[in-house]
Amino acid sequence: MKTQVVIVGGGPAGTGLAISLQKHGIESIILEKESFPRLHVGESMTGECGASVRALGLEEEMGKYKYPIKYGTMVYGTDGRNSFYVPVMGRKKDTNELFAQPTWQVRRSDFDKMLLDVCVDKGIKTIKGTALEVLKNEQGVPCGVTYKTPEGEMGEIRADMVADASGQHTFLSNKGVTGKRMMGKYAKQLAIYSHFKNVKRPEVGEDPNLKTDDTIIFYQKRNHWAWMIPINDELVSIGVVTPAEYFRSSREDMKTFLKREMMSLNPELAKRLEGAEMVEDAHSCANYSYQIPDWAGPGFICLGDAHRFVDPIFSLGLHFTLVECRKAADAIADYMNGKCADMANPFEEHMKFCELGMDNAQVLLDVFWAYPFAFSLYIRDAKYRDGFIDLFAGRCYVTDPPACIPALRRLQAEVSNDEAVAA
Ligand SMILES: Cc1cc2nc3c(=O)[nH]c(=O)nc-3n(C[C@H](O)[C@H](O)[C@H](O)COP(=O)(O)OP(=O)(O)OC[C@H]3O[C@@H](n4cnc5c(N)ncnc54)[C@H](O)[C@@H]3O)c2cc1C
Repeated sequence: MKTQVVIVGGGPAGTGLAISLQKHGIESIILEKESFPRLHVGESMTGECGASVRALGLEEEMGKYKYPIKYGTMVYGTDGRNSFYVPVMGRKKDTNELFAQPTWQVRRSDFDKMLLDVCVDKGIKTIKGTALEVLKNEQGVPCGVTYKTPEGEMGEIRADMVADASGQHTFLSNKGVTGKRMMGKYAKQLAIYSHFKNVKRPEVGEDPNLKTDDTIIFYQKRNHWAWMIPINDELVSIGVVTPAEYFRSSREDMKTFLKREMMSLNPELAKRLEGAEMVEDAHSCANYSYQIPDWAGPGFICLGDAHRFVDPIFSLGLHFTLVECRKAADAIADYMNGKCADMANPFEEHMKFCELGMDNAQVLLDVFWAYPFAFSLYIRDAKYRDGFIDLFAGRCYVTDPPACIPALRRLQAEVSNDEAVAA
């Protein structure tokens, strides 16, 4: 079998890329090992993620699923104190003014299947199978993959490019095509989560900002927190994130651990749980913070989680993934048209762009975790407020970032200087 781009993985990165490539007239085949719908973590969208979904032409399709509407994110501090709320807002193209731009919460099993179905409807070929090995031409450039179907049949797809959209499986890194996976700052964390019904959502008037289907984050202490994300009329996703060692030392099974933590982590969460019923097994996700060097080059490119994931607390993952799909499709089109033929790495500019967005987000996350009190002061400060709203919405891909980023960087530098002097 032959195509222009073989895409390993049919999650949002894989399907988003296939749809974006089709707009350039580039043919692709998606190889996905799981049967959809399949459970997946990652349900809350940023404002710009919602805009990416609209840009893919999927707004009408989204309407059919009646996904909950998110107007903002509430973060409760330890014991429910020091909370802050960040509304979901867009920027007007002409005046650059902020405006309310609600987004969606999604049940990922439905959402990911919807995207894959859209691809099938658009005539994009999808194959159920696991990518096994990377094929290379005489110059050592990737030119396809081999795969195995659930029935045990072996196959081969030859292509001009291999796109790795395998998420945390990091297929091309495992095969030695990219650099080796490097652990991120939050690599020793473990998320345990499930879906619940009968959870008390915020009521009108309960808080001047909080809306019924907003994302709520419950902070307990460094690296110890929980999320509450409504995913449809009935169900709410709740997850608890702690150091993996803390879970191991509890000697509890995941379900017991999750239920106990939910009740004890933060009173703002506990008060919503009377009568709540767990309708899914408890699932877990570990070692999710990493970065892969040299993740694109002649004949190959990685997207979304297949090359970097920092930390889930501010729900930026899907947004990064969908931005990268659009940009990668442009870069692949240039590569195929021979525009960057004289460059050692035809995807250098694309990689810089993607890393820029994630580096800006990394500052936000690092300061939140290292200096939560200072973070909560900065985010309430009128000088920085709009910049935080931009970053939470996902407007991170800027060389001239909002004033809060240099301020947070200065804070990091001052504290490390003080620590050096003290040492
Ligand atoms: C605890 C946690 C909470 C999160 N919460 C949020 C959130 O609220 N909002 C948000 O935006 N993001 C969140 N994220 C991040 C988000 O889930 C990811 O960024 C997003 O799913 C990335 O999409 P993807 O397509 O790159 O990977 P995936 O969605 O993981 O898709 C990869 C696909 O590749 C397939 N695959 C893998 N290997 C192979 C192979 N060899 N052959 C064929 N198929 C293969 C897999 O079956 C899978 O379907 C969270 C992440 C974590 C860890």
